[in-house]
Amino acid sequence: MAEETIFTKIIKGEIPSTIIYKDDQACAFLDINPKAEHHVLIVPVKPIPTVSDVEPEDEPMLGHLFTVARKVAEKYGVQKSGYRLIFNCGPDGLQEVPHIHMHFLAGGNLGLAGFPVKAGKKA
Ligand code: 5GP
Repeated sequence: MAEETIFTKIIKGEIPSTIIYKDDQACAFLDINPKAEHHVLIVPVKPIPTVSDVEPEDEPMLGHLFTVARKVAEKYGVQKSGYRLIFNCGPDGLQEVPHIHMHFLAGGNLGLAGFPVKAGKKA
């Protein structure tokens, strides 16, 4: 089992956050440093470090993240207008927290929101 991460502590309620959805497999909470009007992190309870660590047995649980993304989109009323889902992976993907997570970004035309604008620096 991977080491406990800051996201595990958020899911357990040991660190404060604004949780907008939670079930036995996943948790969705607001990003502390939003890159768009609505920036939610959808995080599995299982602390898989990166996409590169995903195993076939994780497929149903990871598919569930998309169902949670749909619920989040409905919460913000953007299911038709659109939104962006991102997984950063590893150092070159500028992944900061080694606990796999889906970024949900929404709120008007997103342009490059959530993408790095310069090599090695986040937008
Ligand atoms: P990554 O770069 O790993 O794909 O994304 C990590 C995200 O977690 C960043 O967007 C960052 O703002 C967010 N983040 C880091 N620490 C915390 C925290 O303690 N609370 C919350 N809510 N978000 C965090």
